Amino acid sequence: MPLDLRKFQGVKRNTLNTINIDPLQTGGKLTPEARAALIQWGDGYSVCDFCHGALDEIKTPPIYDFVHEALPEFLGIEHVRITNGAREGMFAVMHALSQEGGWIVLDENAHYSSFIAAERAGLNIKTVPNSDHPDYRIDPDDYAKAFEEVKKDTGKLPVLALLTYPDGNYGNIVDTRHVSKICREYSVPLLLNGAYAIGRMPVNAKDIGADFIVGSGHKSMASSGPIGVLGVKDEYKDVIFRRSEHFEKKEVEMLGCTARGATIMTMMASFPSVVERVKRWSEEVRKAQEFSAQLEKLGLKQLGDKPHQHDLLFFEAQNLYEISQKAKDGRYFLYNELKSRKIHGIKPGLTKFFKLSTFGLPKEELRYVVDAFADIIKKYQ
Ligand SMILES: *Cc1c(COP(=O)(O)O)cnc(C)c1O
Repeated sequence: MPLDLRKFQGVKRNTLNTINIDPLQTGGKLTPEARAALIQWGDGYSVCDFCHGALDEIKTPPIYDFVHEALPEFLGIEHVRITNGAREGMFAVMHALSQEGGWIVLDENAHYSSFIAAERAGLNIKTVPNSDHPDYRIDPDDYAKAFEEVKKDTGKLPVLALLTYPDGNYGNIVDTRHVSKICREYSVPLLLNGAYAIGRMPVNAKDIGADFIVGSGHKSMASSGPIGVLGVKDEYKDVIFRRSEHFEKKEVEMLGCTARGATIMTMMASFPSVVERVKRWSEEVRKAQEFSAQLEKLGLKQLGDKPHQHDLLFFEAQNLYEISQKAKDGRYFLYNELKSRKIHGIKPGLTKFFKLSTFGLPKEELRYVVDAFADIIKKYQ
């Protein structure tokens, strides 16, 4: 049978008109401006019309102003580049700082891509443990312990420390200044992974004391990805943005160029709205806390920081798990029940542990989601 090539065309996205509470997706929904930019700039290499060899230097469209003026101010750091995602930003820093037998210290709550980036960069990994169930907290002082251990075992301090802010499982917020103070005391540079922060909440690398900061456009900056941002403190710019010996305008860690198409145009188009929404962060935190309290009233337990300081919420639901043991659809009952109510974002098959996000959802929709959970629990009692 020949492969039917037509099935690749005209594919509909069947989750479009749902209430979406998938943490991966709530902060990456496009603004109307970004959606328009996507159509306008969708052709391959569309931003390269007036490029003289460096993406960040393009004046038309105003990428130069975005990268060298708007983003440094937004992130509180001297130098910024656009990357193809948070992981690419982390990898660039790790690779540039990597040494034979070098170590990185990162929090146990770090994203898988932080581990993978370190592996690819040839770094040995030491983790700062979390406090385990139910809080999964990272104690900043444990960074000092980890540094000491690496020093004792290898004779050298780690080349880099990484903190995930917040982490992508529990949405926990660590005391970043406490971590950066320790890093300064040991002269270990600090990379802040703000994939779930930048574009949602106020983050200022200078206030935090981070030497490097990365964000994810498709996660938290209302952009069509893959795209990210990388901020670098002045003293590290020559190391991270080292130029090629063969092509003088090309930065080696950026592989010469990064977001060379529609992705950067969507990020720029959303940026004014993103700047505004960050100012409303306290409202988002209030909504998340309220939502968490309401689900707890229904017998679920929110893990991680309490009261919670982020829209990413992780729940343990013993009651839903017990229902799944008897329900006709088994562990898919929750997904199916939510789907029939046009709610999307909790992974099919999960009942006992799952995460969701309240970011950007109007209060009425959050109420609707709470009522749906109440309804489902009642139905199976
Ligand atoms: C989503 C996520 C990433 C990966 O972001 P990309 O931009 O897709 O590379 C990294 N770290 C954390 C904490 C995340 O939540």
